[in-house]
Amino acid sequence: MTVLVDKNRCVGCGICTSICSDGIRLDIIKGYALIVDGNSECMDKARRACPQEAITEINEKLKFAIGTDDKKTVKPDDHVGMSAFFHIFEYSDGEMIFKEKRENPKYKSDETRIHGDPGKAKATASVLQDVDVLIGKMMGPNIVRLKKQFVCVIVREKEISHVIDIIKENICTVLHEKNKSDSNERRGILLK
Ligand code: SF4
Repeated sequence: MTVLVDKNRCVGCGICTSICSDGIRLDIIKGYALIVDGNSECMDKARRACPQEAITEINEKLKFAIGTDDKKTVKPDDHVGMSAFFHIFEYSDGEMIFKEKRENPKYKSDETRIHGDPGKAKATASVLQDVDVLIGKMMGPNIVRLKKQFVCVIVREKEISHVIDIIKENICTVLHEKNKSDSNERRGILLK
């Protein structure tokens, strides 16, 4: 299990550090709290006291798919469903490990390239059945369908290696979106 503070939720109030100074410290420069010992006995009490629900336990592994044409950069000029490949990464214990490259079959067969075609969303979903999070620079009208299956993440960064760092920094935000009980409530999220 990994314990992290969601920097996008933390307001720097210091309630957690007053309860659990062994496990959490406030970074005044950054403006949010940081975990220094996730196994500290007082951690659970601090987590429950946080008014922002920012202290997050991550127990599960998450699978990510990044749309790419050249295997180094995020597809730059079209919706993620038009990517030639998907690079699959697994997040576990603070690390993102590259697992495999998958071809996008719809990319090869799609002559018309009609944006918002339900068949295209179906094809993307079928090749990424085990994936939790879909990452691209742009998403088309099919986001309405895709967000029911995936957390949809938009990134402006081009290099996949940098995108991995951004994901690791914002993993709590991704997890909160994934764990929404009603997938209709999910929104695409922009990570910088
Ligand atoms: S209690 Fe929550 S919001 Fe306040 S500093 Fe700690 S983590 Fe941040």
